[in-house]
Amino acid sequence: MPAGLIEGIYLFSAILFIAGLKRLQSPVTARTGNQIAALGMLLAVIATLFAQKILTPVEMIGGLAVGGLIGAVMAKRVQMTAMPELVAAFNGFGGLASALVAAAEIVRVVLSREIAAEVPPSAFPYISILVGMVTFSGSLIAFLKLSGKMTGNPVEFPGRYPVLIIGTALIIASIVWIFFGGDLILCLLMLAALAFIFGILIVLPIGGADMPVIVAFLNALSGLAAAATGFVLSNSVLIISGALVGASGMMLTNTMCVAMNRKFWQIMVGGFGGDSQEEGAGKLADGRTIISTTPDDTAIMLSYARKVIIVPGYGLAVAQAQHQVRELADVLQEKGVEVKYAVHPVAGRMPGHMNVLLAEANVPYDSLFEMDEINHEFESTDVVLVIGANDVVNPAARHDRSSPIYGMPILNVDQARAVVFLKRSMRPGYSGVPNLLFFEPNTRMLFGDAKDSVSELITEVKAV
Ligand code: NDP
Repeated sequence: MPAGLIEGIYLFSAILFIAGLKRLQSPVTARTGNQIAALGMLLAVIATLFAQKILTPVEMIGGLAVGGLIGAVMAKRVQMTAMPELVAAFNGFGGLASALVAAAEIVRVVLSREIAAEVPPSAFPYISILVGMVTFSGSLIAFLKLSGKMTGNPVEFPGRYPVLIIGTALIIASIVWIFFGGDLILCLLMLAALAFIFGILIVLPIGGADMPVIVAFLNALSGLAAAATGFVLSNSVLIISGALVGASGMMLTNTMCVAMNRKFWQIMVGGFGGDSQEEGAGKLADGRTIISTTPDDTAIMLSYARKVIIVPGYGLAVAQAQHQVRELADVLQEKGVEVKYAVHPVAGRMPGHMNVLLAEANVPYDSLFEMDEINHEFESTDVVLVIGANDVVNPAARHDRSSPIYGMPILNVDQARAVVFLKRSMRPGYSGVPNLLFFEPNTRMLFGDAKDSVSELITEVKAV
């Protein structure tokens, strides 16, 4: 294939990546955005295989079929709640691939004397190995934490900072040693091993609640590793796609930090959040108690309301109650109740989690409102149904300066006339912070799995 044609296909792929990314801005266009970007990647892969004459057309089709099948099965089988750990695994393998390709290229160039004479020394391969291996091991730990295969709590150990400083010095030393004629294979192995340990040490002390942010950051790193490998191979599409992943990953990391009111350095220091399984009490020291309610009482409240806002959270995803929630909204709307959905930017466990979940149940996009659009409407709302959400409505974020979630913007559900929480117990949300809204006089607690509770509500509302 002529080089000009390859570059043309690469340019077209890059345009498709950018057009795809642009469409990811809205849930309405996100699906086609994903398909457009995937088409761009397919073209780039095929063009590269033809350009490098790596495989025969039969082998190419075989490889694409096997890879496509594995991807399709994974996409079908993965639960929405397991998405962050899947993304962590993808990032890790992306990082490892970049590191391996860069290492192979260094060995090829340096071991072949004629090429070495032509090729000026470059830092890119070493950056690729360093960033790629940090991404690989960091993502491995993120995957183990998010999938519950190891504790999701911060794992802290004494002397972390001295170890990191010594590790950094050794990494620099191993790269410098290569340029001063050290044994290439030994130096590369040392660099890879140190970077691997570095990634583990960085991610271990980061707690559950901060994990998805670190996954976004590792995603950015995998992009940077790929871009560095693109420079090593002089492959323009790898540079462009890596840069796009790096930049969008950094922007996502920043957006998540802002939405959680956390500084990036605070997240990197670690020690915050974890899997709190501690059951909160139903009574406070000052005598305030929670008020439990039943599906039939809640159904009466809902049926006679003029306006109801549904606030979905992580528990909705766990219960997989999205279809029931849609049905409940339909039944209420048939009774003349105005129903809206309020979506917090970090509800669930990944950005857009609630949008994807509700889209699966065909909830109309024009019923979904972002926090800033709907926060002023709670005052005029009769009932707010908080379904499996907790931290994103916790008023401690607004007024309790000592709370770890202080400053995080929340949905103002406490301003509504009545609030009903659908959850299974008094356990706190992901940040582990107790929610005093449970004890307010206008709050009712409807205990049970969200899917069961919403199903009962549908039956009862129909009967009113
Ligand atoms: P929370 O984690 O605060 O609360 C979820 C609630 O769902 C829990 O109180 C739990 O209570 C309840 N729940 C769990 N399973 C069920 C079930 N089967 N049926 C009914 N209820 C259930 O979720 P939010 O969505 O409110 O907040 C998200 C949290 O995750 C925030 O702290 C946010 O900062 C963090 N986060 C989110 C990210 C994102 O991108 N979305 C990224 C990083 C962090 P119980 O066990 O009693 O049922």
